[in-house]
Amino acid sequence: MVSHKSQRWIVAAKRLTEDPKDRVKCPSCETGYLETTTADFPDGSHTDVYMKCSECGSANVLTYMKDQGAE
Ligand SMILES: [Zn+2]
Repeated sequence: MVSHKSQRWIVAAKRLTEDPKDRVKCPSCETGYLETTTADFPDGSHTDVYMKCSECGSANVLTYMKDQGAE
């Protein structure tokens, strides 16, 4: 089961993989913006997206498989 808030982190991460410079509001406090770092795996199979809120410090990491899309 995916909570509403988790869903919003997933949406945020998806936007940030498409445009890492996009300004995405924090799903947790909805005040701060997420600072993003992406890390491509050496074999190119997937990307880790690290997100951290500048306001409340909420952080999350999502991993995307490049070959299989975001699902
Ligand atoms: Zn926040």
